[in-house]
Amino acid sequence: MSRRPFVAGNWKMNCTLVEARELMSGLRKLVQPGIPVDVAVCTPFTLLYPMGRELDGTDIKLGAQNCYFESKGAFTGETSAAMLKAANVEYVIIGHSERRQIFGESGDLLRSKVKACLDGGMSVIYCVGELLEQRDAGSTTDVIGRQLAEGLGDDLDHGRLTIAYEPVWAIGTGRTATPDQAQEVHAFIRERMAGLFGADAGNTMRIQYGGSVKPGNAAELMACPDVDGALVGGASLVAEDFASIILASAAAVSR
Ligand code: PEP
Repeated sequence: MSRRPFVAGNWKMNCTLVEARELMSGLRKLVQPGIPVDVAVCTPFTLLYPMGRELDGTDIKLGAQNCYFESKGAFTGETSAAMLKAANVEYVIIGHSERRQIFGESGDLLRSKVKACLDGGMSVIYCVGELLEQRDAGSTTDVIGRQLAEGLGDDLDHGRLTIAYEPVWAIGTGRTATPDQAQEVHAFIRERMAGLFGADAGNTMRIQYGGSVKPGNAAELMACPDVDGALVGGASLVAEDFASIILASAAAVSR
């Protein structure tokens, strides 16, 4: 089954407007239209409107890193799906391990957020991943299975859903899963998605790998049969590195 790869950059809490413009100008030169990979950059909220304008005329899509589930009202500091949609956001990252761990986001909250984004007409990158102690204890698939079950329901418009497998011990650490470790978990996720949404969805849903993806390790990870692209943190802040990861994904398709 050939799935079109999807590479998304998670800028996290980085970039002033000046820095973002410089990064985007590099990306515009390096990521040529027509590349056989879907590409998105998920910027901080303050950069959505200006970066949306910078992306005009490119094939790169705009993404956000969070979204609240309520539609409007007294929720200081939050941003709704309708607000993101109006800013031309196409993808929203939900359930990143930093949101789960630092901000204590629960499975129930994440499920509401996933639903609000999908109902609001955007696509969702839903992140799952185990801690190092959970991997060492042999409970990786239990943890991932629980995160999938908590955050997703069979009532969702799954055609606009991407799963990102991000082992927490690999995020921002320079340590990455081996291709075998990634493939094993991706195959497990695919099976769970087929169980939840049906065999077709299991075959077509894209599953990204995330966790210290760099130009030097992208090709071997992207070559895994169930790895359909990457969610990239640190390396997405360097235009040349991000472009090189996108090219590695394109090369994996044409093989
Ligand atoms: C991430 O934040 O989703 C991520 C994978 O970060 P990094 O690539 O820096 O490990």
